[in-house]
Amino acid sequence: MRVCSPDNRARRGSRKRRPGPGRGGRAEEAGGTIPPLRVSKFVFYADVPLAAEDALFRELEELPDQLQRELHIPDGNNVVQVFLFEDQDKYEAFMRERFPWLPVRRAYFIADQKRPGATDDLQVYTWMGENLRTDLRHELTHAMLHAVLKGVPLWLDEGLAGFFEQPPGNDGVNPDHLEKLRKGPFVPDLARLENIGKVAQMEKPEYREAWAWVHFMLRGDPKAKAALLEYLDQLRTNPNPGPLLPRLAQVTADPNKTLADYLARVEIQPPPAPRGRAADK
Ligand SMILES: [Zn+2]
Repeated sequence: MRVCSPDNRARRGSRKRRPGPGRGGRAEEAGGTIPPLRVSKFVFYADVPLAAEDALFRELEELPDQLQRELHIPDGNNVVQVFLFEDQDKYEAFMRERFPWLPVRRAYFIADQKRPGATDDLQVYTWMGENLRTDLRHELTHAMLHAVLKGVPLWLDEGLAGFFEQPPGNDGVNPDHLEKLRKGPFVPDLARLENIGKVAQMEKPEYREAWAWVHFMLRGDPKAKAALLEYLDQLRTNPNPGPLLPRLAQVTADPNKTLADYLARVEIQPPPAPRGRAADK
């Protein structure tokens, strides 16, 4: 179970300290000799050469389309810089030096505003560990949302990142989250979740609940999905459109109970059929 990055805190802090991208880190130094890899709107800087044909990057190339298709958001123009460190030690040493006020996390999305009114630099920092695929999908989802929305409530930001971090074959289902939520105790409470304003208040149960609400809205009820899409549309121009719960309550009689019922019937997607001769026959 991953611990999510406290991204909002990172954003606020980064504005104070204004760290420059691409200076002083091992991955960034290596970027001087190893050409960065461009995949869609993502530019990867790494300590080691990266291959565009790697399945990881081919899948990431489709992530922006997936977000636009699902969420009806426009294509952001911003490039996202991704700094990929070779191992955890190098990553953490860099983060300690550059962002000493940030708690240790496996990956970070940082929006760095150079000056008021300027377009933010969108940066992702992480290392090449076993969770790289989900960590990148998660943080890049934050980056793409940030690129086109004026603001995203913390719980929704994490809920959407939790949905899209899943490989496409999972259709947004996080089996670990689902298992823990079903096992309980879990009492959905969207009003409480929407009141969370500080990253420190987002613990694992809150990440799980945020994921559950997003999955319900995107897959459980077309009317709830319409309410979410309308809300996201408002966020394109209004960073504080108010809570989502009243809008959800207009289309769903008892949202909290509906979510609990929905989680009981969500199906975990079977793994894709194996390829090869046996499957071809
Ligand atoms: Zn996150």
